[in-house]
This record gives sequence, C-alpha cells and structure tokens, in this order.
Amino acid sequence: MAGSKICVICGESKRSNQLLTHKNLLLNDRFSICRDCANSIADFTDEESVIEMAQLANIPFVKNLYTDVKRQSKKPNFGIYQKRLAPYKKFETFSDSVFTTDGAAETVDVTPELERRWGKDYSEEEYAYFENALQGLIAIKPATTAFEIQRYVANVKLKNALDEAFKTGDPKGITALRKAYSEDSKDLGFDAVLSGNDDSGKSLGQRIQNWELNEPVPDNDKYEDTAGLKKYINKWFVIPMKRTFGVASEKEVDSLYED
Ligand SMILES: [Zn+2]
Repeated sequence: MAGSKICVICGESKRSNQLLTHKNLLLNDRFSICRDCANSIADFTDEESVIEMAQLANIPFVKNLYTDVKRQSKKPNFGIYQKRLAPYKKFETFSDSVFTTDGAAETVDVTPELERRWGKDYSEEEYAYFENALQGLIAIKPATTAFEIQRYVANVKLKNALDEAFKTGDPKGITALRKAYSEDSKDLGFDAVLSGNDDSGKSLGQRIQNWELNEPVPDNDKYEDTAGLKKYINKWFVIPMKRTFGVASEKEVDSLYED
C-alpha cells in the first residue's frame, strides 16, 4: 500500500494517518511507530513508560508538559502530549528533554490550542509569558482538574492585566485589579503556600517544596547570615509579596517603613 509503513512495535502495516510523527533517524523509511502502539505503551500513570516512548520516537520528554497532560486530560495519551509539545520551539528531540519541573520556554509557536486557552491576538512573547506563568503556578501548586487549569489561566490573565495597568499608570485600574488578583490568588490557595503556616493536608513533596520556597537558609551557626541578607530579602521581597496576597501582619507592614 502506498504511503503505508510497518510499525516497529506491532509489526503491522499502517496508513500514514495512523502513524506517529517521530524523529528517530535510525528507522528506515519503510518503518515507523503507530499511534495505537504509542498510546498503549505510554501509560500516563507511569512516567517511565512515557519517557521510554519519547526516547524511541526521539521526542523530548518535558516533565511540566507531561504533568500538565496527565492532570488535564480525562484520557491522557501520547498524541495529546505531542500536541501539547508542538508550540515549544526549543523542545525538538529527546536530547532537549527536561526531567524536572523547572523548564521554561522563551518562545512558542502560536497553535489553535494556545489560542483556545488564552484567547486570540496575543504576540508570540505574550503566549510564551502566559504559558510560563501557568507552568510556574502548576509547579507551586499542581492543578488537579481541567477546571482548576482554567482558573489558573484566569489568574495569569488577571496578573497580566494588573501589570498592564502599572505600565499605563492607571490608578483606578491598579487598585481594582490588585484587589481582584489578590483575592483570586487567595481563593486558589497561593497565599497559604506563601505564608507557609498551613502544612495540613499536604503531601511530603508539597511540604518540601513549600519548605524550599520559604526557608532556604538552614538555621546553623556555620551558615549564620552575617551580611544580614535575610533582613533585605524580607523587606524587599517576602513582606511585599505577603502584603500583595493580604497575609502580612501589621508588624510586618510597619517594618517596611523602618530604616
Ligand atoms: Zn503498532
């Protein structure tokens, strides 16, 4: 059959529309990998199996996107993962894989999927910024449902609108948007992550993540903060951040105005 190839996994002859777009240059033209096999081998409850499939197809494994697909799709599969990967220019082959959740993209290709998620008529940089901000939120607090992802999307857009208001110096807009953004962030539980007081109901991993976010300096003589950096970090980052989320105490706010 013209255009059909043999799947190296099941050995069956498949039409081109049943085949995966793979980048494995070692495969002869007559051979490929069929979608059915890719989808049945890549089990999204088993990260290792997805990595193996990505390796065979010479497609990057990107932990953030894997997690994203796993949480968002009712029936996550390798095809959905590939679609999700498509906008990212810097992820081409398996050697571009990112096995941790800190990978971020600077530019993206604008796909219909991105337009559906964020709306149309944004620039490439804006889409990349949105996607990174979203991945950042997911890294702090994983979203468990498609609805939660939508709420994260709305939160990112609120933050963007607030940034725009700051740029144009619109005081009414700033006040309203800051309030909306702060409330929305609180509703999503990001204030708890920032204040770090409430560890109940969190997994060990989440607590470690939380600990890393809040307490990077071990309390040990050897690492005593001789330069007084902690004070500056508190004054210029932690407390203003807490204030944005409405969780700073009066004493903390007052300390901002002390010399
Ligand atoms: Zn097959």
